[in-house]
Amino acid sequence: MANKIRYFIGNWKMFGNQHSLGILNRINKFLNKSRYSAKKKKIIFCVPTTLIHSFAAKLKKSRILIGAQNCHHSEKFAAVTGSVNASMLKKSGAKYVILGHSENRIQGDTHQMIKKKIKSTLNQKLIAIFCIGESLKEKKNKKTFSVLKKQIKSSLDKNFNFRNIIIAYEPVWSIGSGKTPNQKDLSTILHFIKKEFVKIFKTNALPKVLYGGSVNNKNINKFSTNDQIDGFLIGGASRSSKKFIDIIVNYYK
Ligand code: PEP
Repeated sequence: MANKIRYFIGNWKMFGNQHSLGILNRINKFLNKSRYSAKKKKIIFCVPTTLIHSFAAKLKKSRILIGAQNCHHSEKFAAVTGSVNASMLKKSGAKYVILGHSENRIQGDTHQMIKKKIKSTLNQKLIAIFCIGESLKEKKNKKTFSVLKKQIKSSLDKNFNFRNIIIAYEPVWSIGSGKTPNQKDLSTILHFIKKEFVKIFKTNALPKVLYGGSVNNKNINKFSTNDQIDGFLIGGASRSSKKFIDIIVNYYK
């Protein structure tokens, strides 16, 4: 495997409190071990909003960066109960923001809303982790490619700073289900995403594309030889330091 940069991004969803910092401290201790520090990789944890400020401060000198899991699309303060915008996340210490996650799309995030969220995230010089993926029904109806194309076309804009966007391919049927695509299908899909992106936005730069959906310490090894994958968005398994560390160990085995 070429020593290309790899992303290991944890998505904690609605999990964690101040004591959960111990998980990240243990992972950081592991990352400081020489054998793994030579590998080019970025470790990011997208934690609940309540933890961003304190975790970012406490991990300032560590190898872990902190991200958020969503934001409101309004760039300014606004009367929106329960929401935070990208500027507030930036001031809290977040460097990345997950946007377009299927769990948020189900709750009502539209292509247009996601586009505005990406725009406001980029305006704050944060990195957007833009999630796309087909549902089981769409997969069964052979709509995967058209769904992905529509998601890319409708929520990205040619004027965006593409260097600050990472695409995460997360098939909805794979999230939390223990099911993962076979490697041949996954390669074809990731190649399609990169090719479509280049075609739609007439750019030479290939986007970074992550895979997300039921990645764990047991199945990570089968992704190691897939050169289309620039990294992973990891939900459940990112809440355990042992599982997350084993994911990295087994990936580079
Ligand atoms: C996710 O929801 O982003 C995700 C990848 O979840 P899991 O790893 O638990 O399937």
